[in-house]
Amino acid sequence: MAENKKILIIGGGMSGLTAAVETAEAGNDAVIVEKTPFLGGRVAQLNKYFPKLCPPNCGLEINFKRIKNNADVTFYTLAEVEKISGEEGNYNVAVKLQPRFINDNCTGCNACAEACPVEMPNEFNFGLDKTKTAYIAHNQAFPFKYAIDARYCKGKACAKCVDACKYNAIDLDMKAETVNLNVASVVIATGWDPYDAGNLDILGGGKIKNVITNMQMERLASPNGPTSGKILRPSDNKEVKNIAFVQCAGSRDENHLPYCSYICCMASLKQATYLREQYPDSKVRIFYIDIRTPGRYEQFYWKVKEDPNVTLTKGKVAKVAEDTATGDVELVVEDVLAGKKITEKYEMVVLATGMVPSTKNFKIPGDISYTNDGFVAMSSLKKGIYAVGTAKNPVDVAKSVQEATGVAIKSIQSARRSK
Ligand SMILES: Cc1cc2nc3c(=O)[nH]c(=O)nc-3n(C[C@H](O)[C@H](O)[C@H](O)COP(=O)(O)OP(=O)(O)OC[C@H]3O[C@@H](n4cnc5c(N)ncnc54)[C@H](O)[C@@H]3O)c2cc1C
Repeated sequence: MAENKKILIIGGGMSGLTAAVETAEAGNDAVIVEKTPFLGGRVAQLNKYFPKLCPPNCGLEINFKRIKNNADVTFYTLAEVEKISGEEGNYNVAVKLQPRFINDNCTGCNACAEACPVEMPNEFNFGLDKTKTAYIAHNQAFPFKYAIDARYCKGKACAKCVDACKYNAIDLDMKAETVNLNVASVVIATGWDPYDAGNLDILGGGKIKNVITNMQMERLASPNGPTSGKILRPSDNKEVKNIAFVQCAGSRDENHLPYCSYICCMASLKQATYLREQYPDSKVRIFYIDIRTPGRYEQFYWKVKEDPNVTLTKGKVAKVAEDTATGDVELVVEDVLAGKKITEKYEMVVLATGMVPSTKNFKIPGDISYTNDGFVAMSSLKKGIYAVGTAKNPVDVAKSVQEATGVAIKSIQSARRSK
């Protein structure tokens, strides 16, 4: 296949992985550029994903296998696009590769992490614990190859990992490099970041230990998370038997995110089941403005609602305060349907924070426009450039996968047109 028939996919989450494997399996080369050291995106951080409540690996593993078995898919990790120029059928793209400091000899034996004396906040677990500077994000990471974080590593002044590695896999001299690609089309699949709870003053401003975000809840419930899947509250590792979820934490609010993030109601209902399964005597209360469980997700809502230990209350949370003696969290809420004010304490509170497109804060270089909220503006895209999944709008995994399959066809058409 000619060099210019390649399709470039920016972002290696569920959207990007799907676009890549569908493109390659239809006969065009696909190149994924992923900025972190691992593929999988945010789905890898979930405990289970609806509607089937499968662990993330059941979807990701299939895609990783398809990539391993298909020479037409290549990928770069720790990689970001620096420049895009040209036109449909003939885009020139410069990709900057940051050093991993660990080469392909790595067997994933963990000796480097054991030897590494430097700890850093574990970003994969949203700061709920720490990890070593020589690290792998989780036990099913792909590629299963460690990375060294240059922001924290002491380099050759330390080099304990080099001595510990039996396989000569560590190269602290690795330098950044640039790769130039010529591609027929470009797919933007850069996904989302969680809305920063630090902006939500009224909900504790990220300062109350036992007020966590929904993504932190995913990590707490996950077997490869900081508590090995046991839902324990951060302040004192106590089992959580009485929890509140605060919906629309920043979403549908002109001062924060003016749009609905689409998945937060389903995410909290799902997380209610995590707690109810783990602690049969636990109680869950969900405070909402409107419950939005579109299409067939409505069935999931009704099923969770049947549980007498799950209460749904229509009401906006007006105040969140910490009881410093117990670590509990007091909520003041206007119960809209009962017409009264509720003041109640919970052992832990989960804020259903929404999805912010990662392009809100990091723009893809090139002639690409964005909506006021930072999503890629579809109507302005040049021919041969496409956006998909949560880079384009807040969507779930199923929609991301559907869109990515459609975009694979569009990208191949771009390649054919330019024959
Ligand atoms: C609390 C919560 C729970 C959820 N639970 C579910 C669920 O149960 N079921 C469900 O269907 N959906 C769920 N979702 C939604 C789901 O996470 C998204 O639909 C999914 O992550 C979308 O995949 P994506 O590939 O578009 O984006 P992402 O998963 O964000 O992947 C984007 C990838 O692009 C990379 N990237 C970003 N910027 C760049 C760049 N400049 N250059 C290169 N790479 C870049 C990122 O590192 C990442 O790997 C949940 C969301 C939340 C907030």
